[in-house]
Amino acid sequence: MKKISIIIPAYNEAEALPVLKERLDKLMESMENYEFEILFINDGSKDNTLEIIKEMRQEDERVSYIDFARNFGQEIAMMAGIDYATGDSVIIMDADLQDPPEIIPELVKYWEEGYDDVYARRKSRKGETWLKKFTAKMYYKVLQHVTRVEIQRDTGNFRLLDRRCVNALKKLRESQRNMKSMFSWIGYKKKEVLYDRDPRIAGKTKWNYMKLIDLAIDGITSFTTSPLRISTFIAIPTFIALFIYLIYVIAKCFIVHQVMQAYQAIILLILFFSGIQILLFGIIGEYLGRIFNETKNRPLYLVNEYNGEKERNE
Ligand code: UDP
Ligand code: MG
Repeated sequence: MKKISIIIPAYNEAEALPVLKERLDKLMESMENYEFEILFINDGSKDNTLEIIKEMRQEDERVSYIDFARNFGQEIAMMAGIDYATGDSVIIMDADLQDPPEIIPELVKYWEEGYDDVYARRKSRKGETWLKKFTAKMYYKVLQHVTRVEIQRDTGNFRLLDRRCVNALKKLRESQRNMKSMFSWIGYKKKEVLYDRDPRIAGKTKWNYMKLIDLAIDGITSFTTSPLRISTFIAIPTFIALFIYLIYVIAKCFIVHQVMQAYQAIILLILFFSGIQILLFGIIGEYLGRIFNETKNRPLYLVNEYNGEKERNE
């Protein structure tokens, strides 16, 4: 029997957990051909999330948990789940039931058809402000523009991953992590499933705009080092301006017979030296980008098949 691990990071989710467990119980009952593991990661909760999880484990041996020493954040919590999961595939979902468990059978169906990463894409976002929707949309646009890896739109962390994706993700050990970029980076056979994202059933979101900006910057910088190229691109117009102004001043010398004025010399000097400085920053940026990529220590490639055999990535 194949085993599916459901990974659920939980931070102050005491109110949501009982309802979540009920819905998961129903789901597991309906999928009797599979073995399940529900793996909670208690991310340093301050309420009694841990006690509730422990109680659940006493009643139901399919429940296991990791208790973090403090709050490490959702990204790290998911990674711990990926490290500890024992299933043939894992499903990552939120504790607040924004990701409805009812679509899991569909995710599993596509997994059985041979897809490695079946991700749930939001058709709608209930209970979210237009500002959040708008910024999310713009963010995707920018992100896709600056990176060569294909990015899944309107997709959170809710997804099913085959064991080989899990093994691949385990190899990405950088400490500044962005899961979304990693799911894209590993590639493999992806399949999209549409769903309606529900509002959170209890408690409050742990996100605020400051955290979201952090996440957005993390996202961009972990996908690509192209922001470091900005100075190279600024250097080009600076030099063009220098060139045009130089021609203008020289032409004035010869045509109107006007000697070069002090202020003109100053403008030329400023353009010249600031251009050089910006260019040098760009060069440093290029090397910094290379160091940045190197220190991530990622595998160079991931193999899909070898001589027709699916690579498991162990
Ligand atoms: N979460 C976590 N650690 C944190 C913040 C959040 O493990 O520091 C969990 C949280 O319990 C939930 C999931 O990550 O299961 C998503 O968090 P939330 O619902 O607050 O985010 P949103 O859905 O509003 O983006
Ligand atoms: Mg949520």
